[in-house]
Amino acid sequence: MVLATEVVDELYRIRSERGKGFMRRVYLDHAATTAVHPQVLQTMLPYLQDQFGNPSSIYSWGREAKAAIENARAQVAALINADPAEIIFTGSGTEADNTALVGVASALGHKGRHIITSKIEHHAILHTAEDLEQKGFQVTYLPVDGDGLVDPEDLKKALTPETILVSIMFANNEIGTIEPIGQLAQIAKEHGVLFHTDAVQAVGNVPVDVKELGVDLLSLSGHKIYAPKGVGALYVRRGTKIKPFIHGGAQERKFRAGTENVPGIVGLGKAAELARLELPERRAHLIELRDYLIEGVLGSIDHVRLNGHRTCRLPGNANFSFEFVEGESLLLSLDLAGIAASSGSACTSGSLEPSHVLLAIGLPHEIAHGSLRLTLGRENTKEDIDYVLSVLPDIVNRLRAMSPLAPKGGLSCV
Ligand SMILES: *Cc1c(COP(=O)(O)O)cnc(C)c1O
Repeated sequence: MVLATEVVDELYRIRSERGKGFMRRVYLDHAATTAVHPQVLQTMLPYLQDQFGNPSSIYSWGREAKAAIENARAQVAALINADPAEIIFTGSGTEADNTALVGVASALGHKGRHIITSKIEHHAILHTAEDLEQKGFQVTYLPVDGDGLVDPEDLKKALTPETILVSIMFANNEIGTIEPIGQLAQIAKEHGVLFHTDAVQAVGNVPVDVKELGVDLLSLSGHKIYAPKGVGALYVRRGTKIKPFIHGGAQERKFRAGTENVPGIVGLGKAAELARLELPERRAHLIELRDYLIEGVLGSIDHVRLNGHRTCRLPGNANFSFEFVEGESLLLSLDLAGIAASSGSACTSGSLEPSHVLLAIGLPHEIAHGSLRLTLGRENTKEDIDYVLSVLPDIVNRLRAMSPLAPKGGLSCV
């Protein structure tokens, strides 16, 4: 998005007004990535130093690394109530998603060639599904309602004797809506169809129990839960038919070749353990801050709407659309005030198309363009939110004052 020079000038003026020297920095983009937890880093360090062995080696260095991986596997399994043998470590959440879809498609493609997913999935699912369409599979993309919820009745209607897999995300990364996964998985099960959920945003933020939910496959990612980037995991229920996606050595019981990212896996394990132990407090803390932020924004700014379900939503997610404001300008202004946020999905910024999620919930293009996602994390405080609430109304008003679309007079412009 090209910004008019006067807009940029104005933004820099706001910044210099906001005080030279110390500027508060507030990170509110935890759905994009999180900082590695200090305890996670401490747990990882030995595996980058003395305990650098290859887990496939038979001498002590190798055995120590192998034992560390198995310990991490048990920690990840405990977080989602799986058995350790049902956890496969991957190189990312994206790889876990690709493995689930392609792995089931190649194992069961002879039985049927129909897959069901939703219109609001992460691109790791959507682009993989599109690629499978190129390879002769048929894919149904279920619609969502205005809050971003999939209707279980729509799933029932979409199932055919050809359907081999249903993949619906647990919680949406942009608008935070939490889907009725238990209900949807039950429907798939009644039809003898495998069910996968991309739970990258949900794990560590809300309770996730694979046995209670009845899902067959579930993806998670390290860097969304205070572990490092470049490590993820796929839960595969025992007995589930799925073919390997990456070929090579015999790692991960021949399911995912490639020398293991030992420090990353150890970090993911520790992060999973911390998430399990701290979940109730983390969740309560995030919900309190989130609701304070939502009420503050809706109460202090006109012509704004909250996107996503009001209550069935991730504890740390707030997503707003501001009329007569362009999302990229909003992000730039917030950055100048030291606040990190996102407009729709991080992957879609830099493109002129508004987010597919906001379009799927029925927002018109111009409203979708004026959206702002603020996602909170464990280190955020009430002071952080107070700071956002102290600068955001001003920023929105200034941008609206410069917008040719905003009805002057109707909006309070300073
Ligand atoms: C971040 C994210 C992914 C991708 O995970 P990576 O580890 O970054 O590849 C997939 N799905 C959702 C919902 C996400 O938020």
